[in-house]
Amino acid sequence: MDRVGTRSRRKEEAAGRPDDAASSDDDTSDVTDEDSSWISWFCNLRGNDFFCEVEEEYIQDEFNMTGLAAQVPYYEYALDTILDVESPNADMLSEEQQEMVDSAAELLYGLVHARFILTTKGLNAMHEKFQEVDFGRCHRVYCQGQPVLPVGQSDIPRKATVNVYCPRCNDIYFPKSARLGNIDGAYFGTTFPHLFLMTFPSAIPAPTTVVYVPRVFGFRIHREAKRDQVSTGREEAAAAAEVARRTAPPAGPPQTTALTDDSDEVAAGMAKLGVSPAPAPASAPLPAKDPAEPS
Ligand SMILES: [Zn+2]
Repeated sequence: MDRVGTRSRRKEEAAGRPDDAASSDDDTSDVTDEDSSWISWFCNLRGNDFFCEVEEEYIQDEFNMTGLAAQVPYYEYALDTILDVESPNADMLSEEQQEMVDSAAELLYGLVHARFILTTKGLNAMHEKFQEVDFGRCHRVYCQGQPVLPVGQSDIPRKATVNVYCPRCNDIYFPKSARLGNIDGAYFGTTFPHLFLMTFPSAIPAPTTVVYVPRVFGFRIHREAKRDQVSTGREEAAAAAEVARRTAPPAGPPQTTALTDDSDEVAAGMAKLGVSPAPAPASAPLPAKDPAEPS
């Protein structure tokens, strides 16, 4: 079959993708060696960085391919493509059919890949990529650049694109590159990162203990205040300010709103007062924790 033509056409397709324009300088796929195997050519395409090279012996073992013929159109042609085997009737395929074989080859490779990376050899290949940080790092600040692992949310193709799993914060994210985000999550599967970490316990990072705390003017926002902000934030603040004004001594310092009080307890007290206002007369004793109380 016309391997060279197939690859050059693929290269044109890849170059035509919109997000390639911004990163044309890091183009590594141009060095594609026509003499290399389809597998190594495919894995070196930009946007295919997450794939490891599946060993041809693995694909040649029919047992490993069980059930895939039913999932992949043009299965025999796709298989021949992946293994660089000359298909007997490849010359009879129209250009359109050839394109379908190309995409079938990609689908087949992805599905085989999902199986291969759960084997010892596959896990080792992915471990090498993990150590090279080929899968990127966690976006979360407190994960401090923890390398991530690819993961699918489904083992069925065309359900969801690939995500990355952070072993430190135990969460999943979209890959940084939009190009990587076009890859099917089923090509990595739901099991991979977790089996990976069971196989390589040394890759398990210390869990993160730091939790981000939102602050306003340096003060933590009270849980209730945060919730109320969504619905009745403005009325709440106005009522609290009104209560504060009424309970303040005439010569006291200017009142602040609940958000700038220096403790959660005060914020909670103000919020309660705001919800069910029972304003004390100006001559009543001040609440013990009123910020306006002279110290
Ligand atoms: Zn993380």
